[in-house]
Amino acid sequence: MMNTPTQRPLIGLTLEQLRDVAAAVGLKPFAAKQMAAWLYCRNVSSIDEMTDLSKAARARLIAEGYCIGRSEPIASAVSADGTVKYLFDGVPGHAVESVFIPDGDRATLCVSSQAGCRMGCTFCMTGRQGFHGNLSAAAIINQILSVPGTDDLTNIVFMGMGEPTDNLDAVMNVIEILTAEWGKAWSPKRITVSTAGNLKGLKRLVEQTKVHIAVSLHNPFSAERAAIMPIERAYPIAELWDMLRQYDWAHQRRLSAEYVMWRGDNDSMRHANALAHLLRGSSARVNLIRYHALPGSPQRPPSTAAMEAFRDRLNDLGINATIRASRGEDIDAACGMLAGKNDKNELT
Ligand code: SF4
Repeated sequence: MMNTPTQRPLIGLTLEQLRDVAAAVGLKPFAAKQMAAWLYCRNVSSIDEMTDLSKAARARLIAEGYCIGRSEPIASAVSADGTVKYLFDGVPGHAVESVFIPDGDRATLCVSSQAGCRMGCTFCMTGRQGFHGNLSAAAIINQILSVPGTDDLTNIVFMGMGEPTDNLDAVMNVIEILTAEWGKAWSPKRITVSTAGNLKGLKRLVEQTKVHIAVSLHNPFSAERAAIMPIERAYPIAELWDMLRQYDWAHQRRLSAEYVMWRGDNDSMRHANALAHLLRGSSARVNLIRYHALPGSPQRPPSTAAMEAFRDRLNDLGINATIRASRGEDIDAACGMLAGKNDKNELT
């Protein structure tokens, strides 16, 4: 159920913020840890379930307008490969999508951080729909806490709708909740944040967290990249990689370059050579992704042979590159296909 504007969700708050809530309603500071455990470990959906808070304390929280803030998915669609796309409340009037990807022992949830996106990448359905607002930390973590199968999740990737570094305070709150001992106590190695390359936001993310980083690269040549990713004009990829090269990626955390491939546009040996040159000395691995043709787009997917030749060339040049299996294409859940619209017959 959608929260009314006067309600104040508790999910999405860090321990420090929960201490402020506790103080505001006259509770001792240790009540913040009790609330965090109910919110993030026991996954309650009502304040009355927080039974180690006194009845009076719970009544005060409710009187002050606090609520848990959980809301179930509005709709879902199941792919033939087991991938499930969920539609969640995002910002008023605009829903967002999350994608649950089971894979053997792993279950990954791809979450959204914004309703729409203002980065304007030409190949992306989310970018095409424009920007409708930042998700609150509550709306981001709700996708994780309220998705069916939440207890089975092994990995979170911030690769859904939106640019995480464009809503970084909320994303940082969620990373803290996922990794803190008072929260879900996950290893940061279970979390990957993907970015189109906002240099300032990325630097903060690298320095203040230990999560894996994935950069949407897609073309090593600045002019060609700028034609499909306007952010290249503000933050050229060569400068971004010079910054990333200064950090230690060989231990503990992973840096990857996401490379969607288009037939004839970025799948040549010239591109492979330039990509290897750009990434040299950074320990980055490359994920090669086949483009999924969007309606009205002149761009086409490459052949399997072209992708394999590109991968082999990168490997020969000392860059670890793999072709990533695509999931959920039949329900428009694959990379670049998220639209956040409940207008499909299969979303029920
Ligand atoms: S690819 Fe990512 S950054 Fe670019 S428009 Fe789509 S969601 Fe935004």
